[in-house]
Amino acid sequence: MDAVEPLSFEEAIETYEPVMGLEVHVELNTATKMFSSAPNAFGDEPNTNVNEVDLGMPGTLPAVNGKAVESAIKLGLALNCSIAERCRFARKQYFYPDTPKNWQTSQYDEPIAFDGHVDVELDDGEKFRVEIERAHMEEDAGKLTHAGASGRIQGADYSLVDYNRAGVPLIEIVTKPITGAGRRAPEIARAYVSTIRDIVKGLDISDARMERGNVRCDANVSLMRPGAGVFGTRSETKNVNSIRAVEHAVTYEIRRHAGILSAGGSIVQETRHWKEDTRTTSSGRIKSDADDYRYFPEPDLVPIVTTKEWVESLRAELPEPPAQRRRRLREAWGYSEAEFRDVIAAGLLDQIEETVSHGASPAVARKWWMGEISRLANAREVEPAGLGVESATIVELNELIQAGSINDKIARQVLEHHVDGEGSPADIVRNRGLEVVSDDGALTAAVEKAMAENPDVVEKVKAGKLKAIGALIGPVMKETRGQADAGKVKQIVLERLGRNS
Ligand code: ADP
Ligand code: MG
Repeated sequence: MDAVEPLSFEEAIETYEPVMGLEVHVELNTATKMFSSAPNAFGDEPNTNVNEVDLGMPGTLPAVNGKAVESAIKLGLALNCSIAERCRFARKQYFYPDTPKNWQTSQYDEPIAFDGHVDVELDDGEKFRVEIERAHMEEDAGKLTHAGASGRIQGADYSLVDYNRAGVPLIEIVTKPITGAGRRAPEIARAYVSTIRDIVKGLDISDARMERGNVRCDANVSLMRPGAGVFGTRSETKNVNSIRAVEHAVTYEIRRHAGILSAGGSIVQETRHWKEDTRTTSSGRIKSDADDYRYFPEPDLVPIVTTKEWVESLRAELPEPPAQRRRRLREAWGYSEAEFRDVIAAGLLDQIEETVSHGASPAVARKWWMGEISRLANAREVEPAGLGVESATIVELNELIQAGSINDKIARQVLEHHVDGEGSPADIVRNRGLEVVSDDGALTAAVEKAMAENPDVVEKVKAGKLKAIGALIGPVMKETRGQADAGKVKQIVLERLGRNS
């Protein structure tokens, strides 16, 4: 049915009511894996962080990572869930080329946390409550790389497998069906994933870097006629790994379903892939029902019992909830409501907080993240956090401006060169010779030339209209390739005219 043209979002929302279910996978930042002592680390040489358990060797036995269980309990508490007093793992059977055991150790009918909720804040400050069905523990799969033009398994020349990620601890958080969202469904999906990311980051249980897949979302979407009372068939768009993409994927699926339904077709229950370049989804596999996975209780692991004392001691360790933290930071930074909301919407709270903690003023941190870094990120179609600009770099850049070595305009160029991999700001300024021209000889010559070419401006200044000096700055900048210190230019003009600045 992919041949049917999607409806516009407006038309889709006028005709149908969307229902969403969001499954968020969070990779934990424990030192070792969920069931083995192999290191849990990102970016190492393929197949170096693996041991016998991860490789499913005969005769090996798993052991539960206690730290991961604690993280799961903390997350459950932060999501206002009940914590199971006793729960078990289960085997989910499937042919997994990236998981040598050929089953995923997960939890099925006995999740560690269940029945919670999170309140998400929307762009206009409204709150929307998302009910949580469960949060359960499981393990990640390895990573397949398909070599060939498509990058997909279909038509690949060969495939490589890296088992470093196999067995990395995961928590999967599953919402109850989200109804009543209407046209705000895509925005709610974005705000929800961003809230979950904030929570796990605040708990320090995950690196929470979506660009690395630490937090990934499967977005289930279905449509029904208003008041139908019975949900439509859902599609599940897998592994959407940016906040922005979550919003786009939900928007697209609503439009696609509406196109099919209004043409009299029916939706196939299937998984779909998100395609960032076209902002569309494509068909994956027909979705199995739970029965097909032949779940059964994991016989190699004992059940987990959570005592009241343990849960309460973990509750006592919970950090300030993100909503409270936001209120505190807004007051501390003195941003207006609108400024602060823009920061939240851009997902840049952490970056700004970190930059401020590195010594930048809140205003300077906001200026860079919301300004030039966001602009660069936008132009390159990545998230600002994905550009790889460190807080220390911004502080360094700002210090160069403060010291008068570069001006704002040059600083923006330096940032771009930095993003392109040319090294630290100081290196770039040195290597490219970008220091502000404040040595009097060169600058005076440029100012004198500008004055000679603009006698009308000089007359105005002489007549006391000091603001007119602004008109000389452009020509001087041109002469010095933008590297003049504007304050210095003014000073020289006034000196030439025998006035004190
Ligand atoms: P699966 O293993 O098939 O992914 P889960 O129970 O883990 O199933 O997750 C399904 C998600 O989809 C849940 O968030 C659930 O609330 C949601 N969901 C279930 N039925 C529908 C539907 N008809 N439309 C939209 N979302 C749905
Ligand atoms: Mg699922």
